[in-house]
Amino acid sequence: MNRLPRHDHYIAGEWTAPAEGEWFASVNPATAEPWYEAANGTAADVERAVGAARAAFEDPRWRDLSQTRRGRLLRTLGDLIGEHAEELARTESLDNGKLLREMRAQLAGLPEYFYYYAGLADKIQGEVIPGASRELLNYTLREPVGVVGAITPWNSPLLLTATKLAPALAAGNTMVIKPSEHTSASLLALAPLFERAGFPPGVVNVVTGFGATAGGPLTEHRDVAKVSFTGSTGTGRRIARTCADRLIRCTLELGGKSPNIIFPDADLGSAAMGVIAGVFAAAGQTCVAGSRVLVHREVYDEILERVSARAATIAIGDPLDDATELGPLAIAEQLEKVESYVDLGRSEGGKVVCGGARPDTGLGGYFYSPTVFTGVDNTLRICQEEIFGPVATVMPFDSEEEALSIANNSAYGLAAGVWTRDVNRVHRMAARLEAGTVWANTYRSMSPMSPRAGFKNSGMGTEHGTEVVREYTRLKSVWINT
Ligand code: NAD
Repeated sequence: MNRLPRHDHYIAGEWTAPAEGEWFASVNPATAEPWYEAANGTAADVERAVGAARAAFEDPRWRDLSQTRRGRLLRTLGDLIGEHAEELARTESLDNGKLLREMRAQLAGLPEYFYYYAGLADKIQGEVIPGASRELLNYTLREPVGVVGAITPWNSPLLLTATKLAPALAAGNTMVIKPSEHTSASLLALAPLFERAGFPPGVVNVVTGFGATAGGPLTEHRDVAKVSFTGSTGTGRRIARTCADRLIRCTLELGGKSPNIIFPDADLGSAAMGVIAGVFAAAGQTCVAGSRVLVHREVYDEILERVSARAATIAIGDPLDDATELGPLAIAEQLEKVESYVDLGRSEGGKVVCGGARPDTGLGGYFYSPTVFTGVDNTLRICQEEIFGPVATVMPFDSEEEALSIANNSAYGLAAGVWTRDVNRVHRMAARLEAGTVWANTYRSMSPMSPRAGFKNSGMGTEHGTEVVREYTRLKSVWINT
């Protein structure tokens, strides 16, 4: 049997074999076949990677580089990502089952993250503080924090890495990134571009491996000054506790159970499509999935009919095929989780109006049909817990107040959608929805320029936009007796 391609860690600009000499297989979710092996990182690998990042932080080639030049490196990295877009898109599609055409669209926008923070790099500055007396000059320095540990999930490895990498580097930090054990390939394909862009070795390092054995040591390492994490709320809590013990900062982008709310005056065709794209894109494996669909009773039947009719015709299959509309779930455990939630929903009294089973694609991967539940109450577990799969729960409401109450009755607060032609209602809802992002007559729009934050159990801190720079810098106050 042919050996699978084997990938090492990327440390100090070199492919570095794992200290324990172990690799693990990663599976293509469309076929359930292993397709490469990644290094099984341990504390010893983390030690080497953090050491390299620490040395790079002190290296005059990075430390003394002008902020404008730092921006230029980010711009070059963005250009290189653009040049390698097809390879990166294909690699991630094979690794997590996302549609290739969706990945191509994502890659077309990915350089923007680097261009945006390239433009910001030389605008990160302190200020002169008005003094209490003429004899004292007081000013602030906005400094990088040091080595940043970044930990990412499997649903969108490149994008979720870029949102950390670009601002952290713009601010002058160095990084160790640990991708999900399920999806190391696209980040490993990106790694050689760091040095080709001109970043000194060690500025960005990649250690692959599992949460407990590679992620844990990274968050616990004495030289890691900040952790930036995207993933589940449970892991986020654990990481926050570690950071609290160490008194270091962390940014957490966590799970969601977002409401998508349709009023009777909405353009119902667009709203139905917004529901479909909101919850079934990436087979429901997006943190912002609009998995709780709230529909005004006047249009409930019509929306339910449109959504379930379209959901039943969604083309399920090979993510590399342009005709496919829904690919597999990224990992076997996720398929089992979705199945168990659908069983739970049925046992809780919910009615499956479409989907609710594994389709027969003949591909052998982790596919699940788009599923729509009715007859559910917002207090049920399938309406309260994040499923992270192609499962929508549709619930009626009678008034704006009731819609708000159902929408906000959730432990999460990541995103919300509102569909209405009434602009006053949009403002009222936007003001009162407990969510870090509110979309009206659209869903899932995002941009590097627009801040993204999770309320409640959906996170802590901000990503994207200018604010994020504060999270990757520390402020020093300098007093001089003139
Ligand atoms: P996960 O929490 O299981 O794993 C995320 C990462 O954390 C992985 O790299 C994993 O190896 C690592 N990890 C696990 N245990 C760890 C530990 N003890 N210490 C350090 N690292 C550890 O999440 P997942 O299943 O990979 O991803 C799905 C979750 O991510 C969903 O909840 C989804 O909503 C969330 N997500 C959030 C956003 C957002 O922006 N808010 C975006 C995408 C995904």
